[in-house]
Amino acid sequence: MDRRTAERLDLDDPLAGLRAEFDIAGDRPVYMDGNSLGRPSRATVEAVHRAAADWAGRLVGGWQEWIDLPSVVGDRLGRLVGAGPGQVLVCDSTTVNLYKLAAAALDARPGRDVIVGAATDFPTDRYVLEGLAAATGRRLVLLDAPDDDPAALEDRLAATVGDQTALVSLSHVHYRSGARLDGRSVTELVQGRGALMLWDLAHSAGSVPVDLDGWGADLAVGCSYKYLNGGPGAPGWLYVRRGLHGRLRQPIWGWFGRADQFAMGEGYVPAAGIGSHLTGTPPVIGLRAVDAGLELLERAGVAALWAKSQRLTALLAEMVEEDLVPLGARLASPSDPDRRGAHLTVGHTGAWTWCRALVDGDLVIPDFRAPDRIRLGPAPLYTRFTDCFDAVRMMAEVLAAGPAPAGGPARVT
Ligand SMILES: *Cc1c(COP(=O)(O)O)cnc(C)c1O
Repeated sequence: MDRRTAERLDLDDPLAGLRAEFDIAGDRPVYMDGNSLGRPSRATVEAVHRAAADWAGRLVGGWQEWIDLPSVVGDRLGRLVGAGPGQVLVCDSTTVNLYKLAAAALDARPGRDVIVGAATDFPTDRYVLEGLAAATGRRLVLLDAPDDDPAALEDRLAATVGDQTALVSLSHVHYRSGARLDGRSVTELVQGRGALMLWDLAHSAGSVPVDLDGWGADLAVGCSYKYLNGGPGAPGWLYVRRGLHGRLRQPIWGWFGRADQFAMGEGYVPAAGIGSHLTGTPPVIGLRAVDAGLELLERAGVAALWAKSQRLTALLAEMVEEDLVPLGARLASPSDPDRRGAHLTVGHTGAWTWCRALVDGDLVIPDFRAPDRIRLGPAPLYTRFTDCFDAVRMMAEVLAAGPAPAGGPARVT
């Protein structure tokens, strides 16, 4: 791989023009953490300003319109993940939505006492399942497979899910390795054994194709501050298949989920449709930011985002093999591109000090992932092929400059 090739890929990139929608101050450091916190587009910054002005101008009268934003923005987000209207809400945090949907699923499978998750899944996912297992007296089975081997995880799943399984909850794209599960076949397997399937799409939505209705998915949750660029603390989202509406009861009985909310009536009666999965007052400013982020992703189109993501990770993978493996690093993501999402991870015993040197030197902003990984998350809307090229070159230079001492961080944030 040479820089000329990366430059040519930038010239041929149909999405290259969209980088101009973001205020990006200079070429260094190279931001490789768009899958942890996406950049704000200019339109998103304007949307946040407009939302504040709208608040000042309309005061409480604004609720006429604001109150529908979770489902209005939800329908828009749904188009990005293959969900027809009326099945997605943008609300609460990903963690809270995971809890709500997992609890509702368990409630709908009373005779079954096993919850299945993955031992290497994102911590909040494991903790939420652990908490629900404790609260409902169920057994939590965490599938044990290397995080960069999605086929092994699928094999374990097939050997584990049975007639006692109430719920399976898994990430479609693994937060650390980028390993990608087969959404359709996993969903079919789980449903074929009578359990409900809950997908975490935090690292999929906005970069990787997802077809919730096509998969026949039951339930899903995701973030809006990663590839969707909704900003720090932007609300999460949830999907409940239409066929389950009215059949799942979520555990937080708030006034926004009640039928005829403003009658302020006695007792809780769930609203019809997806609305019963709301809880309380929606985060309006965050919703406006998410909406602006979605507009830009729509302009790009999922097919083009995915095509570029695959090319970006292919370039990174090639350079990891060429430039970093000889220096003692390893590709800690699946080597098969058909089993990867949109990010890539490199393993090295000195990953923590290596990562610090990259950040402190204003060279590259990657993500350290305990205990020994560096995660590279190019964002197809604004990361260039030359950014990826330069990032790996700088990683190689830092690594070659001196053996990174082994050891971990004093404190992981
Ligand atoms: C980022 C991420 C989350 C984040 O949950 P929050 O409630 O927004 O903190 C959850 N699950 C996965 C898999 C993630 O990658």
